[in-house]
Order: sequence, then structure tokens, then C-alpha cells
Amino acid sequence: MPVNQELDVQLVEQARAEGFARPPQRKVQCPIVDIHAHAPAGPVAAPLYEAARLYGITRLAAISTLEDALELRQKYPETEMIPRLEFEHLGDPDRFVERNVELVRRAAAKGARIIKMWFAPRFVGRTGKRMDDPLLDPIFREIETHGLGVLTHVSDPDIWFQRVYTDVNLYGTKADQYPQLEHRLAAHPGVPILAAHMGGDPEHLDHLAELLDRYPNLYLDTSATKWIVRELGKQPGAARDFFRQYKDRILFGTDQVAIKDPEPFRYTSRYWIHQLFWETDVVCPLPIEDPDSDGQPILRGINLPEDVLPWIYYKNAARVFGVPVGEH
Ligand SMILES: [Zn+2]
Repeated sequence: MPVNQELDVQLVEQARAEGFARPPQRKVQCPIVDIHAHAPAGPVAAPLYEAARLYGITRLAAISTLEDALELRQKYPETEMIPRLEFEHLGDPDRFVERNVELVRRAAAKGARIIKMWFAPRFVGRTGKRMDDPLLDPIFREIETHGLGVLTHVSDPDIWFQRVYTDVNLYGTKADQYPQLEHRLAAHPGVPILAAHMGGDPEHLDHLAELLDRYPNLYLDTSATKWIVRELGKQPGAARDFFRQYKDRILFGTDQVAIKDPEPFRYTSRYWIHQLFWETDVVCPLPIEDPDSDGQPILRGINLPEDVLPWIYYKNAARVFGVPVGEH
């Protein structure tokens, strides 16, 4: 695709004028699971759920506390509860373990299928704890006992390692973020581990291919709108080939975050971007800001084939994690 291909400015302007509230025609007719979204209970979540319904999302993950997730499920039956581990008591190891083992047990009893944990370099820099810390062994055992999966965040954009995580002694290099994931994948082959944001390495599909080939229990989600669109959009052909090859290992997710006082069209614009990015070969200005972009951020669709999209949209969520995908 020529780099100087003309941007379809008109398309974005038209969509913006409509508040991104008129979803384009879908390429495939099937359920769509958004496996990575954050929402607290209460009215703050409403506009996110509305946008998701508008865009045909039949199952929406709510990463939150278990209590909030339960409340959301009560109100929105399409909620897939993804409770996150509680890290408040990290300073008191016994309490930390006890509370989180109990959390996993209760989450399983209430019908959760996936437990969220967050080991971004920021967190590791602050706490010194990584995903393979022995402290988490009893928690992983509990997860395995109940047949649950894990959703984890282990790395960040390449560019952050140049601009943000410049203290290598504190954060390590980008490559240093991966042994923690590999150790857990190897130690718990029966636990499917979903690595968020294309495993944190959309810049290096060859690395992801290596990991997927080595660990059959590893899966990737497509979440983080700006990062994923920016990096995969730089190599649409390679990205399409990668998705074709690993279609049974990738799950659609957005990383939408329900916040108080969102800017106009926050949620609809992101669903619009995702739809065009995965389903079309549109090239247009990205309608949201991307501080990590060099120059004007661009949406360059990777146009996934019709036989690949259903795997990403719902088949893997159902098959691997047992998520009820909802009625299309
Ligand atoms: Zn997230």
C-alpha cells in the first residue's frame, strides 16, 4: 500500500458529525465479544454499554472489583465479569495471598471465568513484584483448581521504553518483561493466559509468533486502540498474515474504560475505529488523539478475511474460556 495514499478525511468528518453513532455495515454477521473493557458499577458505565450495544457487541467484559462486576451483571446481562486481583495488601504477604485466594474462589462460584492481573513495568518498578513471584503461586493454584483463565498485562509500547521507562535498573528492558509470562505459561499449561494488547508487542509479530508456537496456552487480545492501530497499521499485510495464521489464538478486545465525564463520542468513536480497522482497508485520519504517534495518527485498516473475523470476534472466547457469546 503506498504510504502517500490519500486519506479519506470525508469519511471521518461524516462519522464525527453523526457522533460515530451510525456503525458501518458489518463485514460478518456474528456475535461479538469485547473481552477487554473496564467499568465500575453505577451510572458511569451506562454510555459504554450503550455504545457497545449500538455496535453489536453481544458480550462485554467488565474488568473491575468482583462486587462492581456483580452489580453490572445484574443491570446488564451481557456483562462478562473479569474481577481483578487486589493488590492493596501487597505489603502484608499473608493477607495478600489469603484475600486473593478467597477472591478467586468467590469469583468462580459467582460464574467468573477469567481473573485479571496487571504487571505493567510501572507496577513492577513500584512494587518489585512480577507475575512469576512465588507469592502468587497459591493464587495460580486456586485459579487452576477452578478451571479459570487469566488476563494479564505484561508490557508496554517500545516507544515508552525509550521515553518513559528510561531507568533500566528500575524497569528493565522490554525483553525483561517476558520471562515472568513465560514462567507462568510453562508452570500452568492447563491455565489459558490471555496476554493483553497483542501480548504487549504488536511491534514485533515475529516475537509473538515464537511465543504462541512455544506455549499452546497463550492467547492474545487486540485491546488498546491507539497502540494497536498505530503499530499493526504500519504493517497491514504482515498483520493480516499473522491473524490468518493464529486466528485460533487471538481475541477481540478494545480496552475501553468507562470514566466519569467522558469527552463526546469517547466510546462510539473507539468502536468505530476498531470496526474499520479490522474489517476494511480504509485509510483515514485517526479520529482520536495519539500522543505516541509521529505526526498525524492514521487509521490504516488491515481488512481481515471473513473466515478469520468470527474466530477473533467470538469463537475463541467461547472455545477457550467458555464465555457465553450472546445472541447476534
Ligand atoms: Zn485494560
